[in-house]
Amino acid sequence: VVLASAPKCGRCFWCLRGQPTLCEQIGHLASGGLLDDTPRFALNGARVHQLCFTGTFSEVTVVPGIAAVKIPDDVPLGPAALLGCGVVTGYGAAVNTAGIRPGDSVVVIGCGGVGLSAIQGARARQAGQIIAIDRVTDKLERARRRGADVVIGATGAIAAMEAMIGMTRRGGECVFVGMPGAHDTLSLPVLRALIATQRTFRGCVYGAIDIQTDVPDMITKYQNGELLLDEMVTRTLPLEEVNSALRNLTEGVDMARSVIAF
Ligand SMILES: [Zn+2]
Repeated sequence: VVLASAPKCGRCFWCLRGQPTLCEQIGHLASGGLLDDTPRFALNGARVHQLCFTGTFSEVTVVPGIAAVKIPDDVPLGPAALLGCGVVTGYGAAVNTAGIRPGDSVVVIGCGGVGLSAIQGARARQAGQIIAIDRVTDKLERARRRGADVVIGATGAIAAMEAMIGMTRRGGECVFVGMPGAHDTLSLPVLRALIATQRTFRGCVYGAIDIQTDVPDMITKYQNGELLLDEMVTRTLPLEEVNSALRNLTEGVDMARSVIAF
């Protein structure tokens, strides 16, 4: 199975309107437990939280059934693990949320696992020019000159999010995917950035996908060679090295994804 942190109950207001990544069950995520707000782990009598319903930094776990997606037996687990988050977030943002039309110019800011997947999604939507930016100034300038049809921000840095607006052409679309801090705010000149320029700002969580249909679909695309996953695994490491993997992620050492193999 692929474990997702965006369970879909299939019954609530949002699920019934085709927006399962807004499912009301998401509200339980902040509890650090499962759908009843309690974790299934404990150490010496104290609760041990399960991040995002999954708690995958352990050899065994208990998850909500609606957060597990069955995949075919012959799919290798390393690349499949990338479909739990990251890849679906970036790919889905480009395919489901951004209104990319064939030939559009697309800028993707932040080229970690999410950004690289957004690039793959833009390619799947037949974008014309795709400019990938990751702290490289000349590319930034190139994107600024005319402005892109669609700008996808796969970074939680507020300065980068503000820069995204200037990179979007008049009438273009800004898609915010990266996760800022819970209390971060965005300040922008409303008339110039939004109204007079008719830009569209869109937020996107978890690629706005339906885990139960889109994850199997993406497995098929992987098997057909349409979606690259193996190339995104920069390192495979044992559970004992989880802390160094997280450190590398924070410091930007790993380009794409580390996979922990049990
Ligand atoms: Zn729901």
